[in-house]
Amino acid sequence: MSHDWRSDYDDRIVGVFSPLLELSRGQGARVWDSEGNEYLDFLAGIAVNSLGHAHPVVVEAASRQAATLIHVSNIFATEPQLELAARLLRLTGAGETGRVFFANSGAEAIEAAVKLARRTGRPRILSLENSFHGRTIGALSITGKPALREPFEPLLPHVEHLPTTIEALEAAMGPDVAALVVEPIKGEAGVLPLPDGYLRAARELTAAHGALLVVDEIQTGAGRTGAWFGYQHDGIVPDAIALAKGIGGGVPIGALVTFGAASELLTSGQHGTTFGGNPFVTAIANAVLGEIERAGLVQNAVVRGAQLTEAVLAIGSPLVAGVRGRGLLLGVALTAPVAGDVMRAALAGGLIVNAPNDDTIRVAPPLNITDSDVAEFATRFAAALAAAEHGRPS
Ligand SMILES: *Cc1c(COP(=O)(O)O)cnc(C)c1O
Repeated sequence: MSHDWRSDYDDRIVGVFSPLLELSRGQGARVWDSEGNEYLDFLAGIAVNSLGHAHPVVVEAASRQAATLIHVSNIFATEPQLELAARLLRLTGAGETGRVFFANSGAEAIEAAVKLARRTGRPRILSLENSFHGRTIGALSITGKPALREPFEPLLPHVEHLPTTIEALEAAMGPDVAALVVEPIKGEAGVLPLPDGYLRAARELTAAHGALLVVDEIQTGAGRTGAWFGYQHDGIVPDAIALAKGIGGGVPIGALVTFGAASELLTSGQHGTTFGGNPFVTAIANAVLGEIERAGLVQNAVVRGAQLTEAVLAIGSPLVAGVRGRGLLLGVALTAPVAGDVMRAALAGGLIVNAPNDDTIRVAPPLNITDSDVAEFATRFAAALAAAEHGRPS
């Protein structure tokens, strides 16, 4: 009865991914595969499904907007787009002097940031080793993972990937630096937070040299880390932030929010997009962010994140070295390079997490998980660790 989805996939889809399952539906923090098996989804589409699956607020907004106006192009304005821009300017603190450029993905939000950097008239763009900013050529150029870049060289010139230390940044800064692009927590690198004080030092150094500070909040934004945006933990004001993933709750969206004078850099005709900011996705993003606010889910991320951390440590597995990250973007550091085994054992036991590298398990559940979801996670994760420890990956 179960069709052979894997061979259909291999026959039809470009071979850049290797999907683990074929999923057919979801509800809250749970999904079901096409054979009817249930999974607790503690990855949430990689920190995208902020409200979990099939949330009534999202279903209602999508249905209502689909029946009203899905798309008009940027030759026209729409109310959902203006409402979302106002909401983002308020939540980011960019306020009246801020501006929003809407795109369709994280990489596109970063592309807009690269074009913003070009408009300073300066050549150099700085980013960090081991960073991830997306797969388009501009975003890939600033991504700090050589293995991802090398097959596509030559990439953008004048890009430097710095060690993640304040000293390296001090040494690299100068009057020819257009921008520094950083993630508050390097999600794809294994949920690695910036060193204490780094973001504040980065703000001071970029300001002193007249360079832009661009914060990639694609994974850390929308309440994920227990603040609306990761930079807010450090009390700094950036020049621009890139958003995507969690702000749309699952629909493709990206945004570049600019602050103050940086809002004047891109002028008429200098950038564009057909789909970006369309009424369908912006109506859904409004619903998602509205619900995060109404239900106090930024605070829930703080509380559940602490519970999750405690629960993982309480398992007492010799495979667990510690827990990194903040709020509901957590990386379980392992004592051996067995993250793939743990991930597969978890999956076999009905739990979805992932392995951003060999010795880290990333946990990024919906922001509205409950006490009992955390308890269920702990049970299934303990079983997965035990299975991996005893060499029973599935
Ligand atoms: C996912 C991600 C991106 C790329 O977003 P896409 O929507 O996949 O293009 C960029 N930066 C960070 C930090 C991300 O987590």
